[in-house]
Amino acid sequence: MKCHICDRSVSSFIDEKTDITYYFCSECEYIFKASQHYRDLSDQKMRYDLHENDEDDAGYQAYFQRFLDFVLPQISEVKTALDFGCGRSTLLAQMLKQNNIACDAYDPIYHPDTLDEDKKYDLIVSTEVFEHLHQPKEVFESLTKRLQEGGYLALQTQFHPKDTEAFKKWYYHQDPTHIVFFAAKTFKMLARYFDCDYLDDNGKNMVLLRKRIKESV
Ligand SMILES: [Zn+2]
Repeated sequence: MKCHICDRSVSSFIDEKTDITYYFCSECEYIFKASQHYRDLSDQKMRYDLHENDEDDAGYQAYFQRFLDFVLPQISEVKTALDFGCGRSTLLAQMLKQNNIACDAYDPIYHPDTLDEDKKYDLIVSTEVFEHLHQPKEVFESLTKRLQEGGYLALQTQFHPKDTEAFKKWYYHQDPTHIVFFAAKTFKMLARYFDCDYLDDNGKNMVLLRKRIKESV
């Protein structure tokens, strides 16, 4: 088996509790479940519908505020944004608008018709999306294509504990719709592949990258 990010050979381990096989790449530190555990969108929708994401809920706002507190101080000259995989709620987009950033919200399940193929953004945010993706490398690339040169990509997904035994005890992979897992190093690798600079991470669940500006001769 090859790593879906960097194409190196991966090793595997089994979580004895669930009998699920995981593949781990020691090069880019990407971990992914065996593909029979990948879920389609209708399955995922059933699970999301159980989440009560009330936009007025103070906790939900505080949750996005922590993300914005990481991102906003590190970016400049951002006027347009896309929230990719926003879910049912457009709360994060509304919060960006309060910071004078016009934000579109796209979600394959709840807001599927809002993606303009030709539009480019100064900022793309995507929170709690990447752990659901069957093809995160391809999605990462497609997002970088939607960025202006010098545009920012800010992602939130929990970084996995690198130790196998700690991973097995970790709550995050127990959600059946969470199928792939990242470390900061995985995003550093993706940044290198797709001409981005890796600006920062919070050591836990947030990364900020920037699409390189092509040198004009
Ligand atoms: Zn890899």
